[in-house]
Amino acid sequence: MSVIGHHVAEETLFAYAAGTTDEATGLLVATHVTLCRGCRTALGAAEAIGGALLEDAAQAPLKGDAWQRMLCRLDEDAGPAPESAAAGLLPSPLCGYLGTGDPASLRWRWIGPGVRGVRVPVRGGRSRAILLRIGAGCRMPAHGHGGNELALVLAGGYVDETGRYRRGDVQEATPEVQHQPTVDPDGACFCLLVSDAPLRFRAWWARLGGRFVGL
Ligand code: ZN
Ligand code: ZN
Repeated sequence: MSVIGHHVAEETLFAYAAGTTDEATGLLVATHVTLCRGCRTALGAAEAIGGALLEDAAQAPLKGDAWQRMLCRLDEDAGPAPESAAAGLLPSPLCGYLGTGDPASLRWRWIGPGVRGVRVPVRGGRSRAILLRIGAGCRMPAHGHGGNELALVLAGGYVDETGRYRRGDVQEATPEVQHQPTVDPDGACFCLLVSDAPLRFRAWWARLGGRFVGL
């Protein structure tokens, strides 16, 4: 059975293959791809097709959840995952930006009870990237979204109003989504969060804490 149940959206993977995502989104896709054999296979195919054919494919996306189901099947069929880039809590694309593979050496800033974050230094583009650490059993402050948010789970897991997410899973939240992720009780959750507009926290202290890391 596929371990990863939530993959990068079709248009996002095609945009990444065409080199048109902004830097923060590109970092999230690159990091997911190191953890996901299904998306790695699909990306290889998209890059081989290239150019105009890729644009045609993006114009005619797969219907319903066919894209997500296809990636889960590819993930199952691809055999054992290679070690290397995916090893450790912070996969290699992220280590390159943070300058370390050791989360303990980062300068974490307080965002809320049990929630800390570090801004990932991406250059250019609209989106910002933040590494979040949420303690076991803790809740992310309730929020809506001023734009689109992508969350990639790197360790641990969480549940929210839309489902359950574990290592390697990507959650895409649009402006209509309001949620409050709750981390599983068996360990802290580390997430890479990429957002093209500020989050809309309900609590004033989360608005204040979030500002320090650019949430
Ligand atoms: Zn995937
Ligand atoms: Zn969110």
